[in-house]
Amino acid sequence: MDDQKFGTRDKRGNWKPDAPLQVGPLLDFPWSASRVLKWLPSYFLPWNMLFMAIAAVFWVFLTPSRETLQTLSSGWVAWVFLRNSALILILYGSLEMRLYLRRRQGSRFKYNGKFPAEHPSDVFMFRSQAVDSLIRTFGTGLPIWTAYEVGLLWAWANGHGPWTIFGDNPWALLALGLVLPLFHELHFYCIHRLIHVPVLYKWVHSVHHNSINPSPWSSLSMHPVEHLLYWSGTLIHLLLPSHPLLVLYHLQISGAGAVIGHIGFDKVETGKGIGVDTHAYAHYLHHKYFEVNYADGMLPIDKWMGTWHDGTKAADKQMKDRFSRKKARVNGRVESRKLSDPVRK
Ligand SMILES: [Zn+2]
Ligand SMILES: [Zn+2]
Repeated sequence: MDDQKFGTRDKRGNWKPDAPLQVGPLLDFPWSASRVLKWLPSYFLPWNMLFMAIAAVFWVFLTPSRETLQTLSSGWVAWVFLRNSALILILYGSLEMRLYLRRRQGSRFKYNGKFPAEHPSDVFMFRSQAVDSLIRTFGTGLPIWTAYEVGLLWAWANGHGPWTIFGDNPWALLALGLVLPLFHELHFYCIHRLIHVPVLYKWVHSVHHNSINPSPWSSLSMHPVEHLLYWSGTLIHLLLPSHPLLVLYHLQISGAGAVIGHIGFDKVETGKGIGVDTHAYAHYLHHKYFEVNYADGMLPIDKWMGTWHDGTKAADKQMKDRFSRKKARVNGRVESRKLSDPVRK
């Protein structure tokens, strides 16, 4: 595919899409029904349908029986861990293999002209972004994901919580299933803002931001405290009428879904002249500029909070002005502290 038809590449080899990013129209005002209708297919396809399909296969074929789940035992816990790990190895691994190891589409549609493997850095274990990310993904990410899943399945099997079945409450479960991706984004925004508070950023979230030029393995490359916060949104299933299938869907949206923002390419080419849109640009800009796009843009929270970056020069200017104002505020605070403390002057 010719990526120049869709965007432009600068002298450093960084590619950006021509079309400005748009926030999801569901809660964006002035509200437009036709915008919502046009946007709806992209809400389901391809990602959320894929995550629901994986959740359904997991639930029907790869989750132990209710009787087994009633008693915690290392056998089934290990099984859940291994099936989740296998999924991530296949999903993230195949994208990494195709785009970053075999480089099947070269730099076409790649936001950052460089490949992380060419730039070893001391911030990573073994100086490798990929190795560091793999250790964090499988060392703490998958165990913590599995811990949430095991706890929720055990609670369901033992009747702890307002669990229901599709036969009894079809509309409530359908509604919950429909809003789960939106709820996940809202929850992610809240915990993400929290871990950008300087002290938490330094000790926790800076691990994830070490990947300035993310690749699929960067997706779950987080500090264990961030992993704990990241999946804590699934505890909502202990508060609202829910079903284990929706728990698995929610875990897929967060676990497998983390890859969406970290693919690093705007399209994954699937054939001659055909490519799948990744929706990765908003989160790529977060990795590039740190203090923009805390959510992914499906909900217009960043727009409301003045932190939305749509990839345009105007947004660049807005962001730089905001950073200058923040710097002036911080400098002003330091100056006034010096004035009120003559000893330190
Ligand atoms: Zn990220
Ligand atoms: Zn961040």
